[in-house]
Amino acid sequence: MARLAGRVALVTGAGNGIGRAIAEVFGAEGAHVYVTDVDGAAAEVSAQGITTAGGAATALTADVSRGQDVTQMFRTVAGAHNRLHIIVNNAGINVRSDFRHLTDADWVRIREVNLDGVIRVARDGFELLRLSGAGSLINVASVMTHRGMRQLAGYSATKGAVAALTRALAVEYAAFNIRVNTVAPGFVETGLTERVLRNPMFNKALIDRTPMRRLGTPVDIARAALFFASDDSGFVTGAELAVDGGMTAQL
Ligand code: NAD
Repeated sequence: MARLAGRVALVTGAGNGIGRAIAEVFGAEGAHVYVTDVDGAAAEVSAQGITTAGGAATALTADVSRGQDVTQMFRTVAGAHNRLHIIVNNAGINVRSDFRHLTDADWVRIREVNLDGVIRVARDGFELLRLSGAGSLINVASVMTHRGMRQLAGYSATKGAVAALTRALAVEYAAFNIRVNTVAPGFVETGLTERVLRNPMFNKALIDRTPMRRLGTPVDIARAALFFASDDSGFVTGAELAVDGGMTAQL
């Protein structure tokens, strides 16, 4: 039995990488998936992949850092389904910079997508989640919530805030039977990490620091998101699941 049969899900940043894998796994488990991305063509490709595999998907172009895009995104879902069982706040960016050289413009850009976007989607998606009767909001944070790395301080600050937001919203949204949880990926090979992971020394150092001795795959993360999306986690809220091969468990 498909675990998300009859559910309606929305995934932000689902045109590539982890978001695409989440959308595909949800589609394979029977959900109607709204595949949203600032890159509309990429969202179309993801949605077509789901429908070709026999699932149901709708592609939407939406930049989570723009209020009017998010409003329109939820209006479209409301017009077609009038409820959302699952929202995955996955869209995220990074700008690598030594902190002392981080420009205001770069910091604002990281924050606008990774934090303001997550807040906007979590707030504006509330009503549709409530209407489902049993909602699940999943925020994608990072190992960087708990560990520091050079040139990632701005990114870490946004992801730490996302983890804190998750706990606070779990408490507030529980009254409406909406669960709120965080998936915290380790290093995964996607467009976001492509450039740094191409450096063989950095790549090896990461694998050496990972007890399971490999990088993550988008599907590793998608399976964790599926747990939070499905009834398997029916009494789980405010939790953070590290999907990092043991990286954050290690001293
Ligand atoms: P990715 O770059 O492969 O994909 C991100 C997607 O988000 C892209 O399709 C992009 O177009 C979209 N996007 C970017 N800005 C957007 C915006 N303003 N509005 C809507 N969509 C937007 O990245 P990924 O590695 O798949 O990252 C997905 C999430 O996982 C991010 O939140 C990232 O911080 C997190 N994460 C990734 C890793 C990793 O190692 N790849 C590790 C920890 C956390």
